[in-house]
Amino acid sequence: MFSGSRDAKTITRMLLTVLVLSVFSADRCACDGEPCVRIGLTSLGTAIKRATFYSVGGIKLFDAAGSLLLETESEDCVQVFAEGSAFVARSGLQVKSAPGPFVRLISRVSDAAVAIQLADSRSVRRYRGSVEARLVPAGMYLVNIVDTEDYLLGVVPAEMSSRCPLEAVKAQAVAARTYVLANLGKHRSANFDLCDTSHCQTYGGVSVETPRAAEAVRTTAHLILTYDGKPASVMYCSDCGGATQDVSQLRPNVRLPYLCGVREPEDIPHESWELSMALSDIAKKLVSAGLKQCENMSAIRVAQTDSSGRVLEFEITTNSGSVQVSGQKVRSAIGSSLMKSLLLSVEQTGSKVVFKGKGSGHGIGLCQAGAKWLASPPKNWTYDQILAHYFPGTQVRSLEEVYGWKARALSLVPLDQPKRLSSEAKEAKQTLSGSESASGRRNESNSRRDITFDVRVEAPNGL
Ligand SMILES: [Zn+2]
Ligand SMILES: [Zn+2]
Repeated sequence: MFSGSRDAKTITRMLLTVLVLSVFSADRCACDGEPCVRIGLTSLGTAIKRATFYSVGGIKLFDAAGSLLLETESEDCVQVFAEGSAFVARSGLQVKSAPGPFVRLISRVSDAAVAIQLADSRSVRRYRGSVEARLVPAGMYLVNIVDTEDYLLGVVPAEMSSRCPLEAVKAQAVAARTYVLANLGKHRSANFDLCDTSHCQTYGGVSVETPRAAEAVRTTAHLILTYDGKPASVMYCSDCGGATQDVSQLRPNVRLPYLCGVREPEDIPHESWELSMALSDIAKKLVSAGLKQCENMSAIRVAQTDSSGRVLEFEITTNSGSVQVSGQKVRSAIGSSLMKSLLLSVEQTGSKVVFKGKGSGHGIGLCQAGAKWLASPPKNWTYDQILAHYFPGTQVRSLEEVYGWKARALSLVPLDQPKRLSSEAKEAKQTLSGSESASGRRNESNSRRDITFDVRVEAPNGL
C-alpha cells in the first residue's frame, strides 16, 4: 500500500517531467509504441557492487554511448561490476570495461525479460523492457526502462491480491495507472521516475505477475481516472473500516473534492482489531515521542472525531490536569502497525486500556477491502462504479482523450528515426501543456545520446 503522495511537496506542481534517456541507435526499442517509464529498482539496493544478468536467447550490453560491448548466446550470463568510476563487464572469457555513467542491458529476443541476480542473493528477479545500471560513488543502482502497461503488470498484483474479483483488480489497475501519470519524474534527480517500493508503488517485475492482474491491466489499457479533465490524485488504502477519510484530515492544506470521506454500504465486512496496553506503556511511548506532559497520565479518552468517526483528538488526563493530543500523534507514538487505524474506541479499566478499532491505514481514497466486496456477488459492481464511489465526481477516460496524444508520443524511439523523436517530443509538449510556454530541452552530445525534455502541464492535482 502506498501513501499516494508522501513527498508530494517535492513534486513540483507545475512540472511533469518526462525523461527519455539513452536511445540506442543499433537497438530495438524496449517500449514500442507505448509511453515508457523509468523505475528505480531501489528495493534491490542503491550501492550494488556486482550483479549478474541473463535472458532467454542471450543478452546485449551497451555502454552509455550506445556501443554494443558484449553479446551472449542463449542464457549465458553477463556479470557487471561497479569499479570506482567505471564498469567492468564479463561474460565467459570476454572482459570489457565501460565508463559511466551507465550501461544498459536488453534481451536479444523480442519481449523476453532481463533476469537479474545480485551477488549476495540466490533469488532472481525478471523485468520486462531493459535494465540500466548507473554508477554512484558506492557502487551502482539499477533502473528498469519499461512500457507503462508492462510496468503495471508488475504493480497491480503487488498492490492487490489476485484472489480479489476481477472488477476490483481493474479498479486497482486504473488507480495505479493514474498514479504513474500524476507522478512521472518524482525521483527525477536520481534519473528515474518512480521507485519500486511502497514509497511510490510496489513493483515486483515479471516474477509477481498473475493472470488475473494481467487481465485487469489489459482490459483497462490506457484508462485513467480524471477530475476536471486532468489525472486525479489517487490514493488507496487496504481497509477503510467502513468509511473513508477526507484527505484534508491528513494534509490540512489539501482540498480535493473527490478525496472526501465516503461511507460504504453497511453490510461490507471490515477488519476489526484490538490493542490492549498498560497506561504506563502508553505514557512511555508518548513521552519518548516528545510528549513529556503525558508522563503521569491516569486516563485516555476520545475527545473529538471527524465525520468518518476517526479520532481527531484524544484527551489525556494527568496529575496536573488534562491535555489534548492529536490522534495522528498518538498513533505514530504507539506505532501504526499496532494502532492500525484511528477508527477506534477506548475502554479503560484501572490502569489497563483497550483500543478497539476497525480497518487499517489512513483510510483515504480507494478502499481495497471494500472494493473486493463491492465487486463480489450479490453486489457485482463494475470497476468504474467502484471508482466513482470512492472518488466522487471523477471520470474514467483514456490517455488519448485526456492528452489528445497518440499514446506513443512519450515512448523511446530508436535513433534511426531521430527526426520523429524530435517532432513527437514537441507534439507531446504542446498537447500536454496546451500552450507554447512549455520549455523543451534536448541535449544531444556526440558521444552520449541522452534526450531530456520537460513537459509542463497544469497541476493535475493539489497534492
Ligand atoms: Zn518512490
Ligand atoms: Zn472500506
